[in-house]
Amino acid sequence: MSLVIVFGAGINGAALARELILAGSDVVVVDSADLAFGTTAYSSRLVHGGLRYLEFADTPLVRESLDERERLLTLAPAYVKPLEFRVPVERRLGGFLDGLGKLLFGGKYKPRSRRGLWVVRFGLWWYDALARTSTLPKSRVLRREPGAALAERYGRLLSYYDAQMRFPEQFTAALLADARQAADEAGRLFAVHTYSGASVDGSSIIVTDDLSVTHTYRPAAIVNAAGPWGDDIRQALGYTGKRLIGGTKGSHIVVYRDDLRRALGDAALYAEAPDGRPVFVIPFGAAVLIGTTDLPYDDDPADAVASEQELDYLINLTNTLLPGCAIDRGDVTLHYSGVRPLPHVDAATTAAITRRHAIVEHAGGPWPAWTLVGGKLTTCRALAEETAAVVLKKLGRTPAANSRERPIPAIYEAPPLAGDDTRSVVGTTWPRGQVRHIIRTQWVRRLEDLVERRLMLLFEPRLERATLAELAELLVLEGRLYEHQAEAAIARTVARLADHFGRKVS
Ligand SMILES: Cc1cc2nc3c(=O)[nH]c(=O)nc-3n(C[C@H](O)[C@H](O)[C@H](O)COP(=O)(O)OP(=O)(O)OC[C@H]3O[C@@H](n4cnc5c(N)ncnc54)[C@H](O)[C@@H]3O)c2cc1C
Repeated sequence: MSLVIVFGAGINGAALARELILAGSDVVVVDSADLAFGTTAYSSRLVHGGLRYLEFADTPLVRESLDERERLLTLAPAYVKPLEFRVPVERRLGGFLDGLGKLLFGGKYKPRSRRGLWVVRFGLWWYDALARTSTLPKSRVLRREPGAALAERYGRLLSYYDAQMRFPEQFTAALLADARQAADEAGRLFAVHTYSGASVDGSSIIVTDDLSVTHTYRPAAIVNAAGPWGDDIRQALGYTGKRLIGGTKGSHIVVYRDDLRRALGDAALYAEAPDGRPVFVIPFGAAVLIGTTDLPYDDDPADAVASEQELDYLINLTNTLLPGCAIDRGDVTLHYSGVRPLPHVDAATTAAITRRHAIVEHAGGPWPAWTLVGGKLTTCRALAEETAAVVLKKLGRTPAANSRERPIPAIYEAPPLAGDDTRSVVGTTWPRGQVRHIIRTQWVRRLEDLVERRLMLLFEPRLERATLAELAELLVLEGRLYEHQAEAAIARTVARLADHFGRKVS
């Protein structure tokens, strides 16, 4: 069997690993941290066609994204759900010339005026028309309800549907769990090495984890799916060439405020900020998720943290839209920031950089090798299918199968439990037995993996130290942690939650 090594276990690496297994390859996934440790955990969590890409006439991207939206709604209902969006507009007219400017000059054009009702209506009509396979309701103009919390100057509202993937982190684990299942059924090699580094030895790759355990592989091909770290790993593996990725940083805030949450109801708001940037105010369980910014960023993506200016910007935007539920810094339960793995190009505004993906082949190494550039949550499956076809063609084979109709399993449903296993971890609704099952089956190595990327406790309104202590105890029971390391693991997690997310532990 031909072995493909995938670097990066974000949503794109995980989708690709699954696709390659289905296509008939052996697969090893290597990540320098945890699953979904990168941008996948820091997005707006939407599965969307990308309404605003229509302004750049990027219809192929929008059409593909809309097809994939429908597919994910059907194949992954445990993770992807329909979500209504409301677009408030101030005027009937406006935005025509800007629309034309963007169509003619693309990313070089800087918009000058706000979009009016008819421009948005036209865009939504086009969006509906491109959504060939959609089962979601079509867009429409809504009557503004008297007394609504929305600022008075928004006299008009439009409604359309997209979808929400509330926890791409869990979706990523589900993709890998499904890849493992498919590999077991077909008798193929499948391994996921997290917290691991790789070095090259001739035509072998040596993978070493943080406990110094090593594995040596002789791959037939490699794919670099390291998202915004793509250029680093390309160079580390010895592939020279021009810079591929020029990330921009985007931040979000999570706010628990009942009046704001009630003002949204079941629908998100998608509005235009005074600087022309799109802003989302999204129902997020009992909370509200607000984003995003778009700033050039050149440092290590792992260090991206929302700045005070970004927090103020997002708070002010929310208050401009919904002055009746004005929020302040004290209402921000947490913030997060991620780096978009966009192609390195010269565009007038960061918002204008294309969101289209590319599969870039590298010459001159011991193996055929590619770097994935760009890609969204929404198109992870399509990018995976396209990449697997490219890789297999190079290896002189055709894919045995693809993922177009394969459901993504709901791996977060509780398994049958008895006795003490049914008791919930303090401060959570997670049964201890289920958490132990997740640790065993979902590549959990550290306390922060559980808190940030499996149980999603990061987003709960309250997070207690006692919860962290009990989770550490379960990690000890499952052999992921020595008892004497538990206190240090808790302290490290508390510090990271504070520094990286502005999140308090009580
Ligand atoms: C602010 C923001 C909002 C967004 N909103 C949306 C949205 O609403 N909908 C949508 O569809 N898309 C959205 N996106 C885009 C989407 O989130 C990303 O394109 C996608 O998550 C990229 O996933 P990835 O797997 O390519 O990269 P990542 O998720 O970054 O994964 C890369 C992985 O590589 C690993 N890695 C790094 N270095 C190495 C190394 N040396 N060796 C091995 N592994 C390594 C990392 O640990 C990480 O796990 C948004 C992005 C941002 C930033």
